[in-house]
Amino acid sequence: MARHNRGMIKPLALFAAPLAFLAAPLLADGHAETAASAADDPGAEVSEARLRADMDTIIGFGTRHTLSTQTDPERGIGAAVDWALAEFGRMSADCSDCLDVMPVGRVVEPDGRRIPQPTLIRNAVAIQRGTQRPNEVIIVQGHYDSRVTDPLNGVDDAPGANDDGSGSVMVLEAARILSQREYPSTIIYALLTGEEQGLYGAGILADWVGEQGMTVKAVLNNDMIGNSCGSDGYCEPDYVRVFSEGLRADSTPRLRALQRRFGGENDSPGRNLSRWLADLAAEYPDGMQVRQIWRTDRMGRGGDQIPFLDRGYPAVRVTVSVEDYDHQHQDLRVEDGVTYGDTADELDWTYLTRASVLNVRALNRLAMAPMPPSVTADAVVKTFTQLEWSQAFGADRFVVWKRATDQSYWDDEPVSILENPPSDGDTIGGTGPVQGVPVYISGTRLEGVRGDDWLFGVSACNGKYCSPISTAVPGGAFEPVEQPETEE
Ligand SMILES: [Zn+2]
Repeated sequence: MARHNRGMIKPLALFAAPLAFLAAPLLADGHAETAASAADDPGAEVSEARLRADMDTIIGFGTRHTLSTQTDPERGIGAAVDWALAEFGRMSADCSDCLDVMPVGRVVEPDGRRIPQPTLIRNAVAIQRGTQRPNEVIIVQGHYDSRVTDPLNGVDDAPGANDDGSGSVMVLEAARILSQREYPSTIIYALLTGEEQGLYGAGILADWVGEQGMTVKAVLNNDMIGNSCGSDGYCEPDYVRVFSEGLRADSTPRLRALQRRFGGENDSPGRNLSRWLADLAAEYPDGMQVRQIWRTDRMGRGGDQIPFLDRGYPAVRVTVSVEDYDHQHQDLRVEDGVTYGDTADELDWTYLTRASVLNVRALNRLAMAPMPPSVTADAVVKTFTQLEWSQAFGADRFVVWKRATDQSYWDDEPVSILENPPSDGDTIGGTGPVQGVPVYISGTRLEGVRGDDWLFGVSACNGKYCSPISTAVPGGAFEPVEQPETEE
């Protein structure tokens, strides 16, 4: 599972600009001295005690089933969402009102499946607006609702400690920590409901984000991040799995035709977000590591990343490496000496804490980094490859990567690093319309590189913070695929 660091400080050795962070010491292997920036690591602030306290509180609502009572002040999903909104409000009071706290929801009509009567689906959402590019958003979410064996049982106790109290308390803790800092981009903290009834809350939030005209940089969907062993005793305490889709859910016949000609089967934005997360984790060898799973979700199952993928937003699922089927979606009971139920005493708190640290580090870096640019490669009947990419606001440089088409990961060393704004010789000039805004288009010409044999990607960086790589293939950009006009 050896992974390589890339894209952080090491490439800057090739880059002459006198930037302050070049002073960061390099270890013998050339990797950045991460301990030197420990003071700058919000992951170090994650508190197991606060995760435990929040877990106690939310389990205290008895059940958080989406069909449970919304009028009881102490029990059920209504009281639980009210508490989460109030807790976000208390955090906001601690950061000079830096959070916009709101329920995002609507009434969902009966669907013949798991919504038997009109039901208000209400997500608890807190928005930390970016100081420079508030339109760029990173979403961190867990699902707040819980269930027992019968998916329609909104009455019995359903603690949902791991599924997905674990993701929920991580989101709260991330908000608590990161709201004490400022970021160029916006972070949305979301506790979603209606997941167990059909991913309703995520669909509602994804629609809402689209209605706001937001540009989604990344969605980190955390669903079950609190156990390390399966019911058979097999354990993996040092890895979370990150699930990413290959072919885009919002693909079109036109995109499929283009990918058939130019490639892109393994380079969706979610896939590159997954690679980026694995690299980030590898920078902290003692921290939680990432086992990338290159499929959308577990076999035959789903999660709240899917409604975002359906709408073309880059999203991954972060989840335990080993599921414990005895302690999810189960009535609380003892049967033949086996205890069933998703209770807090089955959690691995060290695991949950380390998974939370990884999330906080990822959010911190994603919120500091620019958007990944939209990249094209032209190598048709040429002895060179011409790369071009859209401007990324806030980028001080672009890092160009390549890998052979049969390789899974980007090369250890970048192809080149180009300053932004462009200096002479490295870039082509000109402006072009990107999303209706006239911006510079940067690019580079790779002499003697036959593009047929390679995949190319570009990361946008600001200081030590680099975006995920965006691949120069159709559908590689971190934006929804253009949909055909629908006929009336
Ligand atoms: Zn779940």
